[in-house]
Amino acid sequence: MTTYSQYIADENSMCQFGAKLVQAICNIQNNETVVLYLNGELGAGKTTLSRGIIQSLGHQGNVKSPTYTLVEEYHLPQKQVYHFDLYRLSDPEELEFIGIRDYFKANSLCLIEWAEKGQGLLAEADLLINIEYADFARNIQLVATTQLGEKILQNLTA
Ligand code: ADP
Ligand code: MG
Repeated sequence: MTTYSQYIADENSMCQFGAKLVQAICNIQNNETVVLYLNGELGAGKTTLSRGIIQSLGHQGNVKSPTYTLVEEYHLPQKQVYHFDLYRLSDPEELEFIGIRDYFKANSLCLIEWAEKGQGLLAEADLLINIEYADFARNIQLVATTQLGEKILQNLTA
């Protein structure tokens, strides 16, 4: 299992890291769906990183937290992005109602906050992204959990 860690000084650096991660993902020339689980306490920066990712793929507007809607969709030139926040999910069956399986189809990028709440109903992660507080900054750790995740980390460090 390959891991990659980086110190993230501030919010802006977190967005920049999102852009770098997008490059590593888009350098892979296939249409495989990429699934990222974003882990960390409230306020760690999961949504901030998601914003960096989504805006670097060409989204111009806001990135709102999908806390109440469960999922926000972004149809961008290179990828369909589905940004989930399952914090308020009380019954995993709700995921069946929104047709969760359809979100993991070809050429999508799925960003999932609070994935543990949807255990058993989500696609496996390619990368686990763990964000921890380091005083006012953050440490981010990426853990590859599939071959595809390994390739992304290789691109990130190349
Ligand atoms: P989460 O989605 O994990 O609950 P958010 O991304 O919504 O967290 O909020 C993170 C908050 O922390 C934002 O207010 C952001 O400005 C702040 N912040 C401070 N330092 C950082 C950093 N290094 N990386 C990301 N966010 C940071
Ligand atoms: Mg969030």
